[in-house]
Amino acid sequence: MPGPVFPATADPLAAQRGGVSGVAVGILGGTFDPVHFGHLRAALEMLEVLGLAEVRLLPCGQPPHREPPRASATERLAMLELALAGQPGLRVDRRELERSGPSYMVDTLASLRAELGTAPLCLLLGSDAFLGLPQWHRWRELPRLAHLVVLHRPGWTLDAVPAPLAEMLAAQRISAAAELMRRPAGGILLQPVTPLDISATAIRAQIAAGRSPRYLLPDAVWDYIRRRNLYAAAPAE
Ligand code: ATP
Repeated sequence: MPGPVFPATADPLAAQRGGVSGVAVGILGGTFDPVHFGHLRAALEMLEVLGLAEVRLLPCGQPPHREPPRASATERLAMLELALAGQPGLRVDRRELERSGPSYMVDTLASLRAELGTAPLCLLLGSDAFLGLPQWHRWRELPRLAHLVVLHRPGWTLDAVPAPLAEMLAAQRISAAAELMRRPAGGILLQPVTPLDISATAIRAQIAAGRSPRYLLPDAVWDYIRRRNLYAAAPAE
């Protein structure tokens, strides 16, 4: 198995810090169709609890592992911008929307790694997403590019982790957030987060049924959804 691939750093103090340079960045990828408080609360808690310099919410362009989003890329981006307005430390990263072809996370992390040098990079994943990792393109390469931080999500336990993923977890699990700062990538941290049983699927279903999703997502996002008449009809079979 090839070792980590990190570009040479221009940071002259990096050697004194064990080769790790810069400040740690978190990435929360998703379709955000629409963004909701489950995403936002997790992003803010990880910013503070892990001591990250920033968390980037990274909307997926063309999801390779699921059906296309209901809202357009422009609409999902607009909802994210509304949700993050005025919150220091949280921002949108548009790179998957600007890239053509399927949005493979391995390509996204490689491009972030090229940008960040040897700074610690943390891929934040809900436990549902983590369990599905073996379906992702070149998934075994992800820990070479970033740490994986697995956020507990209500309804998704890690009692039955698929075998190849369980092996990776056993080999690379770390027990303390501080370890994320000691190297650029390679650790897997299981991290509690305030449990919020909110999903975009349930929000879309509520709207399609004529019910209000208010208090599950920011008011500015709900206003935008109403103005654009998003999710009003159930998806065609
Ligand atoms: P959908 O219901 O359409 O699948 P979703 O609510 O799961 O959407 P995504 O945009 O697919 O939202 O999720 C992006 C990331 O955020 C994933 O890693 C997912 O596990 C995580 N996530 C989403 N909702 C929560 C939540 N309530 N608590 C913790 N993590 C969450």
